[in-house]
Amino acid sequence: MSTQNSTATSSTSSSGVTLDEVLQAAKAVTSRYPESYYDELDRTGGYPHEFIKDAMAAGLGAIMVPAEYGGMGLGVREASVVTEEIHRSGGSGSMLHGQMFMMGILARHGSEEQKRRVLTEVAAGRVRLQSFSVTEPNAGTDTSKITTRATREGNQWVINGQKVWTSRAAHTDMLIVLARTRPPKDPAKPFDGLSCFLVDVRGVDPKQFQLRKIDVIFNHHTYEVFYDNLRVPENALIGEEGKGFKYLLDGLNAERVLITSECIGDGRWFVDKAVKYANERVIFGKQIGANQGVSFPIARGYAHLEAADALRWKAAEMFDRHENCGAEANMAKMLASEASWELANACMQTHGGFGLAREYGIERRFRENRVFQIAPISTNMVLNYISQHVLKMPRSY
Ligand SMILES: Cc1cc2nc3c(=O)[nH]c(=O)nc-3n(C[C@H](O)[C@H](O)[C@H](O)COP(=O)(O)OP(=O)(O)OC[C@H]3O[C@@H](n4cnc5c(N)ncnc54)[C@H](O)[C@@H]3O)c2cc1C
Repeated sequence: MSTQNSTATSSTSSSGVTLDEVLQAAKAVTSRYPESYYDELDRTGGYPHEFIKDAMAAGLGAIMVPAEYGGMGLGVREASVVTEEIHRSGGSGSMLHGQMFMMGILARHGSEEQKRRVLTEVAAGRVRLQSFSVTEPNAGTDTSKITTRATREGNQWVINGQKVWTSRAAHTDMLIVLARTRPPKDPAKPFDGLSCFLVDVRGVDPKQFQLRKIDVIFNHHTYEVFYDNLRVPENALIGEEGKGFKYLLDGLNAERVLITSECIGDGRWFVDKAVKYANERVIFGKQIGANQGVSFPIARGYAHLEAADALRWKAAEMFDRHENCGAEANMAKMLASEASWELANACMQTHGGFGLAREYGIERRFRENRVFQIAPISTNMVLNYISQHVLKMPRSY
Protein backbone atom coordinates (compact mmCIF):
# COMPACT_ATOMS: atom_id res chain seq x y z
CA MET A 1 0.00 0.00 0.00
CA SER A 2 1.24 3.47 -0.82
CA THR A 3 -0.51 6.69 0.20
CA GLN A 4 -1.69 8.98 -2.60
CA ASN A 5 -0.08 12.36 -3.08
CA SER A 6 -2.75 14.87 -2.20
CA THR A 7 -2.48 16.33 -5.70
CA ALA A 8 -4.26 13.36 -7.24
CA THR A 9 -7.74 14.83 -6.96
CA SER A 10 -6.83 18.50 -7.36
CA SER A 11 -7.76 20.73 -10.22
CA THR A 12 -6.20 22.86 -12.94
CA SER A 13 -4.48 26.15 -12.09
CA SER A 14 -5.39 29.48 -13.65
CA SER A 15 -2.48 29.12 -16.10
CA GLY A 16 -3.89 25.89 -17.50
CA VAL A 17 -1.15 23.67 -16.05
CA THR A 18 -2.62 20.87 -13.97
CA LEU A 19 -1.24 19.99 -10.58
CA ASP A 20 -0.74 16.49 -11.93
CA GLU A 21 1.56 17.86 -14.66
CA VAL A 22 3.58 19.69 -12.02
CA LEU A 23 3.72 16.50 -9.96
CA GLN A 24 4.91 14.46 -12.94
CA ALA A 25 7.66 17.00 -13.66
CA ALA A 26 8.77 16.79 -10.02
CA LYS A 27 8.69 12.99 -10.07
CA ALA A 28 10.83 12.94 -13.21
CA VAL A 29 13.56 14.72 -11.23
CA THR A 30 13.14 13.00 -7.86
CA SER A 31 13.26 9.57 -9.51
CA ARG A 32 16.91 10.30 -10.37
CA TYR A 33 17.73 10.95 -6.69
CA PRO A 34 16.89 7.87 -4.65
CA GLU A 35 17.09 7.67 -0.87
CA SER A 36 20.66 6.33 -1.16
CA TYR A 37 21.70 9.74 -2.60
CA TYR A 38 20.51 11.54 0.54
CA ASP A 39 21.85 8.79 2.83
CA GLU A 40 25.29 9.35 1.33
CA LEU A 41 25.06 13.15 1.72
CA ASP A 42 23.98 12.61 5.32
CA ARG A 43 27.03 10.41 5.95
CA THR A 44 29.50 12.79 4.32
CA GLY A 45 27.90 16.15 5.16
CA GLY A 46 27.70 16.85 1.42
CA TYR A 47 25.57 19.43 -0.34
CA PRO A 48 23.05 18.34 -3.03
CA HIS A 49 24.59 20.39 -5.87
CA GLU A 50 23.53 17.93 -8.58
CA PHE A 51 19.95 17.75 -7.38
CA ILE A 52 19.55 21.55 -7.26
CA LYS A 53 21.09 21.94 -10.72
CA ASP A 54 18.80 19.28 -12.11
CA ALA A 55 15.67 20.70 -10.42
CA MET A 56 16.49 24.22 -11.65
CA ALA A 57 17.09 22.95 -15.18
CA ALA A 58 13.61 21.40 -15.08
CA GLY A 59 12.19 24.78 -14.07
CA LEU A 60 10.98 23.50 -10.68
CA GLY A 61 12.69 26.22 -8.64
CA ALA A 62 11.17 28.99 -10.75
CA ILE A 63 7.58 27.80 -10.60
CA MET A 64 6.40 30.99 -8.85
CA VAL A 65 8.35 33.38 -11.07
CA PRO A 66 6.24 35.22 -13.67
CA ALA A 67 6.70 33.88 -17.20
CA GLU A 68 8.12 37.23 -18.42
CA TYR A 69 11.09 36.69 -16.07
CA GLY A 70 11.67 33.11 -17.16
CA GLY A 71 9.49 31.22 -14.70
CA MET A 72 6.30 29.17 -14.96
CA GLY A 73 4.06 31.92 -13.63
CA LEU A 74 2.29 29.59 -11.22
CA GLY A 75 1.56 29.95 -7.50
CA VAL A 76 2.68 28.55 -4.16
CA ARG A 77 -0.07 25.95 -4.61
CA GLU A 78 1.89 24.38 -7.48
CA ALA A 79 5.27 25.01 -5.82
CA SER A 80 4.07 23.09 -2.78
CA VAL A 81 3.40 20.04 -4.94
CA VAL A 82 7.10 20.01 -5.83
CA THR A 83 8.36 20.32 -2.25
CA GLU A 84 5.90 17.68 -1.06
CA GLU A 85 7.14 15.28 -3.73
CA ILE A 86 10.79 15.85 -2.80
CA HIS A 87 10.05 14.92 0.81
CA ARG A 88 7.69 12.13 -0.23
CA SER A 89 10.60 10.58 -2.11
CA GLY A 90 12.91 10.72 0.93
CA GLY A 91 14.79 13.93 0.12
CA SER A 92 14.98 17.48 1.37
CA GLY A 93 13.33 20.48 -0.27
CA SER A 94 14.94 23.20 1.79
CA MET A 95 17.50 24.07 -0.91
CA LEU A 96 14.72 24.63 -3.38
CA HIS A 97 12.05 26.16 -1.15
CA GLY A 98 14.39 28.91 0.06
CA GLN A 99 14.96 29.97 -3.50
CA MET A 100 11.25 29.66 -4.33
CA PHE A 101 9.97 32.02 -1.68
CA MET A 102 12.84 34.51 -2.03
CA MET A 103 12.15 34.77 -5.75
CA GLY A 104 8.55 35.34 -4.73
CA ILE A 105 9.60 38.32 -2.57
CA LEU A 106 11.54 39.78 -5.50
CA ALA A 107 8.69 39.13 -7.92
CA ARG A 108 6.17 40.88 -5.67
CA HIS A 109 8.27 43.67 -4.19
CA GLY A 110 11.45 44.07 -6.27
CA SER A 111 12.00 46.84 -8.81
CA GLU A 112 11.68 46.19 -12.52
CA GLU A 113 15.47 46.56 -12.77
CA GLN A 114 16.03 43.92 -10.04
CA LYS A 115 13.62 41.54 -11.70
CA ARG A 116 15.35 41.88 -15.08
CA ARG A 117 18.88 41.77 -13.61
CA VAL A 118 18.42 39.08 -10.94
CA LEU A 119 15.14 37.20 -11.20
CA THR A 120 15.73 36.12 -14.79
CA GLU A 121 19.21 34.84 -13.89
CA VAL A 122 18.00 32.94 -10.81
CA ALA A 123 15.09 31.45 -12.75
CA ALA A 124 17.53 30.24 -15.42
CA GLY A 125 19.69 28.58 -12.75
CA ARG A 126 22.70 30.80 -13.51
CA VAL A 127 22.60 32.66 -10.16
CA ARG A 128 21.91 31.05 -6.78
CA LEU A 129 19.61 32.96 -4.43
CA GLN A 130 19.62 30.42 -1.63
CA SER A 131 19.87 32.34 1.63
CA PHE A 132 17.74 34.46 3.84
CA SER A 133 19.62 36.25 6.64
CA VAL A 134 17.20 37.40 9.33
CA THR A 135 17.70 35.67 12.70
CA GLU A 136 20.25 37.12 15.13
CA PRO A 137 21.76 35.55 18.25
CA ASN A 138 20.42 38.15 20.69
CA ALA A 139 17.05 38.73 19.04
CA GLY A 140 15.97 35.12 18.30
CA THR A 141 12.27 35.00 17.62
CA ASP A 142 11.85 38.70 18.37
CA THR A 143 12.85 40.08 14.97
CA SER A 144 12.03 43.65 16.03
CA LYS A 145 15.20 43.53 18.19
CA ILE A 146 17.68 42.84 15.41
CA THR A 147 20.72 45.09 15.56
CA THR A 148 22.28 44.56 12.12
CA ARG A 149 22.36 48.01 10.55
CA ALA A 150 22.56 49.30 7.01
CA THR A 151 23.77 52.88 6.77
CA ARG A 152 23.56 55.04 3.66
CA GLU A 153 26.93 56.40 2.44
CA GLY A 154 26.70 58.19 -0.90
CA ASN A 155 25.26 55.75 -3.42
CA GLN A 156 26.00 52.72 -1.25
CA TRP A 157 24.63 50.97 1.82
CA VAL A 158 27.10 49.73 4.44
CA ILE A 159 25.97 46.64 6.37
CA ASN A 160 27.29 45.76 9.84
CA GLY A 161 26.07 43.08 12.22
CA GLN A 162 25.89 39.44 13.14
CA LYS A 163 23.35 36.86 12.02
CA VAL A 164 22.84 33.25 13.04
CA TRP A 165 21.19 30.31 11.31
CA THR A 166 21.64 31.75 7.81
CA SER A 167 21.09 28.49 5.96
CA ARG A 168 23.08 27.77 2.78
CA ALA A 169 25.12 30.99 3.12
CA ALA A 170 28.25 29.25 1.80
CA HIS A 171 26.36 27.94 -1.22
CA THR A 172 24.75 31.05 -2.58
CA ASP A 173 25.62 33.94 -4.88
CA MET A 174 23.10 36.28 -3.34
CA LEU A 175 21.23 36.62 -0.05
CA ILE A 176 18.28 38.60 1.18
CA VAL A 177 19.41 40.37 4.37
CA LEU A 178 17.14 42.14 6.86
CA ALA A 179 18.78 45.17 8.50
CA ARG A 180 17.65 48.24 10.39
CA THR A 181 18.01 51.42 8.33
CA ARG A 182 16.42 53.80 10.85
CA PRO A 183 14.64 53.75 14.23
CA PRO A 184 10.85 53.19 14.08
CA LYS A 185 8.86 56.41 13.59
CA ASP A 186 6.40 55.21 16.23
CA PRO A 187 7.92 53.16 19.12
CA ALA A 188 4.68 51.15 19.23
CA LYS A 189 5.53 49.90 15.70
CA PRO A 190 9.01 48.42 16.21
CA PHE A 191 9.12 46.66 12.83
CA ASP A 192 9.02 49.99 11.03
CA GLY A 193 12.53 50.95 9.86
CA LEU A 194 13.66 47.43 8.91
CA SER A 195 14.69 47.01 5.27
CA CYS A 196 15.41 44.09 2.94
CA PHE A 197 18.59 44.03 0.85
CA LEU A 198 19.52 41.81 -2.05
CA VAL A 199 23.20 41.25 -1.36
CA ASP A 200 25.55 39.85 -3.99
CA VAL A 201 28.40 38.07 -2.18
CA ARG A 202 30.31 36.89 -5.24
CA GLY A 203 33.87 38.10 -4.97
CA VAL A 204 33.39 40.03 -1.72
CA ASP A 205 36.30 40.37 0.69
CA PRO A 206 35.88 37.37 3.08
CA LYS A 207 36.66 39.70 6.01
CA GLN A 208 33.46 41.62 5.25
CA PHE A 209 31.36 38.47 4.98
CA GLN A 210 32.61 35.84 7.40
CA LEU A 211 30.93 32.46 7.85
CA ARG A 212 31.05 29.90 10.63
CA LYS A 213 29.21 26.61 10.11
CA ILE A 214 26.84 25.38 12.83
CA ASP A 215 26.65 21.58 13.08
CA VAL A 216 23.11 20.36 13.68
CA ILE A 217 21.46 16.93 14.08
CA PHE A 218 20.78 16.53 10.39
CA ASN A 219 22.60 17.33 7.16
CA HIS A 220 21.72 20.99 6.98
CA HIS A 221 24.14 23.71 5.95
CA THR A 222 23.55 26.64 8.23
CA TYR A 223 25.91 29.41 9.32
CA GLU A 224 26.71 32.28 11.61
CA VAL A 225 27.38 35.28 9.39
CA PHE A 226 29.41 38.35 10.32
CA TYR A 227 28.80 41.43 8.16
CA ASP A 228 31.71 43.80 8.65
CA ASN A 229 31.41 47.04 6.66
CA LEU A 230 29.97 45.14 3.70
CA ARG A 231 29.25 47.72 1.00
CA VAL A 232 26.38 47.15 -1.41
CA PRO A 233 25.08 49.43 -4.17
CA GLU A 234 21.92 51.49 -3.62
CA ASN A 235 19.98 49.24 -5.99
CA ALA A 236 20.39 46.39 -3.48
CA LEU A 237 17.48 47.80 -1.48
CA ILE A 238 14.27 45.83 -2.11
CA GLY A 239 11.14 47.95 -2.35
CA GLU A 240 10.79 50.90 -0.01
CA GLU A 241 13.28 51.63 2.73
CA GLY A 242 11.84 50.83 6.20
CA LYS A 243 9.14 48.46 4.92
CA GLY A 244 11.24 45.28 4.77
CA PHE A 245 9.37 43.46 7.51
CA LYS A 246 6.13 43.68 5.54
CA TYR A 247 7.82 42.08 2.52
CA LEU A 248 9.36 39.48 4.77
CA LEU A 249 6.01 38.46 6.28
CA ASP A 250 4.53 38.05 2.84
CA GLY A 251 7.42 35.78 1.85
CA LEU A 252 7.25 33.88 5.12
CA ASN A 253 3.61 32.96 4.53
CA ALA A 254 4.68 31.33 1.26
CA GLU A 255 7.50 29.59 3.14
CA ARG A 256 5.04 28.29 5.75
CA VAL A 257 2.93 26.71 2.98
CA LEU A 258 6.04 25.11 1.47
CA ILE A 259 7.17 23.82 4.89
CA THR A 260 3.66 22.43 5.43
CA SER A 261 3.90 20.51 2.18
CA GLU A 262 7.35 19.20 3.14
CA CYS A 263 5.86 17.89 6.40
CA ILE A 264 3.01 16.32 4.43
CA GLY A 265 5.60 14.66 2.18
CA ASP A 266 7.53 13.41 5.22
CA GLY A 267 4.31 12.18 6.82
CA ARG A 268 3.36 10.16 3.74
CA TRP A 269 6.87 8.69 3.61
CA PHE A 270 6.61 7.62 7.28
CA VAL A 271 3.12 6.14 6.74
CA ASP A 272 4.26 4.09 3.75
CA LYS A 273 7.32 2.72 5.55
CA ALA A 274 5.37 1.97 8.72
CA VAL A 275 2.46 0.26 6.93
CA LYS A 276 4.79 -1.83 4.76
CA TYR A 277 6.78 -3.03 7.76
CA ALA A 278 3.65 -3.61 9.87
CA ASN A 279 2.26 -5.82 7.09
CA GLU A 280 5.50 -7.75 6.51
CA ARG A 281 6.91 -8.32 9.98
CA VAL A 282 5.56 -11.46 11.64
CA ILE A 283 6.02 -11.86 15.40
CA PHE A 284 4.07 -14.21 17.73
CA GLY A 285 2.84 -15.89 14.57
CA LYS A 286 1.05 -12.88 13.05
CA GLN A 287 1.73 -9.60 11.28
CA ILE A 288 2.60 -6.93 13.85
CA GLY A 289 0.10 -4.58 12.10
CA ALA A 290 -2.74 -6.83 13.33
CA ASN A 291 -2.04 -5.45 16.82
CA GLN A 292 -3.97 -2.26 17.37
CA GLY A 293 -1.11 -1.00 19.53
CA VAL A 294 0.87 -0.91 16.27
CA SER A 295 -1.81 0.11 13.75
CA PHE A 296 -3.68 2.78 15.73
CA PRO A 297 -0.77 5.24 16.13
CA ILE A 298 -0.20 5.07 12.35
CA ALA A 299 -3.91 5.47 11.60
CA ARG A 300 -4.26 8.39 14.03
CA GLY A 301 -1.21 10.18 12.60
CA TYR A 302 -2.53 9.63 9.08
CA ALA A 303 -5.87 11.24 10.01
CA HIS A 304 -4.05 14.23 11.51
CA LEU A 305 -1.90 14.54 8.38
CA GLU A 306 -4.94 14.57 6.08
CA ALA A 307 -6.54 17.33 8.18
CA ALA A 308 -3.35 19.42 7.97
CA ASP A 309 -3.23 18.84 4.23
CA ALA A 310 -6.76 20.25 3.77
CA LEU A 311 -5.66 23.47 5.47
CA ARG A 312 -2.50 23.59 3.34
CA TRP A 313 -4.57 23.92 0.14
CA LYS A 314 -6.72 26.64 1.68
CA ALA A 315 -3.64 28.64 2.78
CA ALA A 316 -1.95 28.19 -0.61
CA GLU A 317 -4.98 29.33 -2.57
CA MET A 318 -5.45 32.39 -0.34
CA PHE A 319 -1.77 33.32 -0.77
CA ASP A 320 -2.05 33.01 -4.53
CA ARG A 321 -5.11 35.30 -4.50
CA HIS A 322 -2.99 37.87 -2.57
CA GLU A 323 -5.25 37.51 0.49
CA ASN A 324 -3.95 37.64 4.03
CA CYS A 325 -3.32 33.96 4.80
CA GLY A 326 -1.29 34.48 8.00
CA ALA A 327 -3.67 32.45 10.17
CA GLU A 328 -4.17 29.62 7.67
CA ALA A 329 -0.46 29.35 6.74
CA ASN A 330 0.63 29.32 10.39
CA MET A 331 -2.02 26.81 11.47
CA ALA A 332 -1.32 24.52 8.52
CA LYS A 333 2.39 24.58 9.32
CA MET A 334 1.82 23.78 12.99
CA LEU A 335 -0.62 20.94 12.31
CA ALA A 336 1.53 19.41 9.57
CA SER A 337 4.73 19.57 11.62
CA GLU A 338 2.97 17.91 14.56
CA ALA A 339 1.28 15.24 12.42
CA SER A 340 4.49 14.34 10.59
CA TRP A 341 6.39 14.13 13.88
CA GLU A 342 3.64 11.90 15.31
CA LEU A 343 4.10 9.66 12.26
CA ALA A 344 7.90 9.77 12.57
CA ASN A 345 7.53 8.36 16.07
CA ALA A 346 4.93 5.79 15.00
CA CYS A 347 7.19 4.68 12.14
CA MET A 348 10.22 4.42 14.43
CA GLN A 349 8.23 2.43 17.01
CA THR A 350 6.75 0.11 14.39
CA HIS A 351 10.25 -0.81 13.25
CA GLY A 352 11.35 -1.74 16.76
CA GLY A 353 15.14 -1.92 17.01
CA PHE A 354 15.52 -1.68 13.23
CA GLY A 355 14.09 1.85 13.35
CA LEU A 356 17.38 2.88 14.92
CA ALA A 357 19.55 1.04 12.40
CA ARG A 358 21.07 3.38 9.82
CA GLU A 359 20.44 1.02 6.91
CA TYR A 360 16.66 1.38 7.28
CA GLY A 361 16.82 5.15 6.73
CA ILE A 362 14.13 5.85 9.35
CA GLU A 363 16.53 7.51 11.80
CA ARG A 364 17.78 9.98 9.14
CA ARG A 365 14.27 11.11 8.32
CA PHE A 366 13.39 11.17 12.02
CA ARG A 367 16.31 13.57 12.66
CA GLU A 368 15.40 15.67 9.63
CA ASN A 369 11.73 16.06 10.55
CA ARG A 370 12.26 17.35 14.09
CA VAL A 371 13.31 20.83 12.97
CA PHE A 372 9.87 21.71 11.64
CA GLN A 373 8.42 22.30 15.11
CA ILE A 374 11.23 24.78 15.82
CA ALA A 375 12.05 26.53 12.56
CA PRO A 376 11.26 28.58 10.60
CA ILE A 377 8.67 29.38 13.28
CA SER A 378 8.21 27.52 16.53
CA THR A 379 4.91 25.96 17.58
CA ASN A 380 4.68 28.40 20.49
CA MET A 381 4.89 31.37 18.17
CA VAL A 382 2.10 29.93 15.98
CA LEU A 383 -0.04 29.55 19.11
CA ASN A 384 0.81 33.14 20.04
CA TYR A 385 -0.31 34.23 16.57
CA ILE A 386 -3.64 32.40 16.86
CA SER A 387 -4.24 33.68 20.42
CA GLN A 388 -3.51 37.31 19.59
CA HIS A 389 -4.40 37.86 15.95
CA VAL A 390 -7.25 35.40 15.44
CA LEU A 391 -8.82 35.07 18.90
CA LYS A 392 -7.93 38.62 20.04
CA MET A 393 -6.59 37.59 23.44
CA PRO A 394 -3.96 39.72 25.20
CA ARG A 395 -0.36 39.63 24.02
CA SER A 396 2.01 37.52 26.10
CA TYR A 397 5.04 39.61 25.14
C1 LIG B 1 18.11 24.37 11.13
C2 LIG B 1 17.69 25.79 11.19
C3 LIG B 1 17.70 26.56 10.05
C4 LIG B 1 17.36 27.90 10.10
N1 LIG B 1 17.44 28.66 8.96
C5 LIG B 1 17.26 30.00 9.04
C6 LIG B 1 17.51 30.84 7.91
O1 LIG B 1 17.84 30.36 6.82
N2 LIG B 1 17.43 32.18 8.05
C7 LIG B 1 17.09 32.75 9.25
O2 LIG B 1 17.03 33.97 9.33
N3 LIG B 1 16.81 31.98 10.35
C8 LIG B 1 16.90 30.63 10.27
N4 LIG B 1 16.66 29.83 11.38
C9 LIG B 1 16.27 30.47 12.63
C10 LIG B 1 14.91 30.11 13.15
O3 LIG B 1 13.94 30.84 12.44
C11 LIG B 1 14.94 30.41 14.64
O4 LIG B 1 15.67 29.35 15.26
C12 LIG B 1 13.63 30.54 15.24
O5 LIG B 1 13.05 31.72 14.75
C13 LIG B 1 13.69 30.62 16.78
O6 LIG B 1 14.70 31.50 17.23
P1 LIG B 1 15.72 30.99 18.37
O7 LIG B 1 16.31 29.70 17.92
O8 LIG B 1 16.67 32.08 18.71
O9 LIG B 1 14.80 30.72 19.62
P2 LIG B 1 14.33 31.74 20.76
O10 LIG B 1 13.71 32.95 20.18
O11 LIG B 1 15.47 31.92 21.70
O12 LIG B 1 13.20 30.88 21.47
C14 LIG B 1 13.54 29.69 22.24
C15 LIG B 1 12.25 28.98 22.62
O13 LIG B 1 11.43 29.85 23.41
C16 LIG B 1 10.14 29.96 22.85
N5 LIG B 1 9.62 31.32 23.02
C17 LIG B 1 10.28 32.49 22.85
N6 LIG B 1 9.45 33.53 23.09
C18 LIG B 1 8.24 33.01 23.39
C19 LIG B 1 6.97 33.55 23.73
N7 LIG B 1 6.75 34.87 23.78
N8 LIG B 1 5.94 32.71 23.98
C20 LIG B 1 6.13 31.37 23.95
N9 LIG B 1 7.31 30.79 23.64
C21 LIG B 1 8.35 31.59 23.37
C22 LIG B 1 10.31 29.64 21.37
O14 LIG B 1 9.10 29.12 20.83
C23 LIG B 1 11.43 28.60 21.40
O15 LIG B 1 10.88 27.31 21.54
C24 LIG B 1 16.97 28.48 11.33
C25 LIG B 1 16.94 27.67 12.49
C26 LIG B 1 17.31 26.36 12.44
C27 LIG B 1 17.32 25.55 13.71
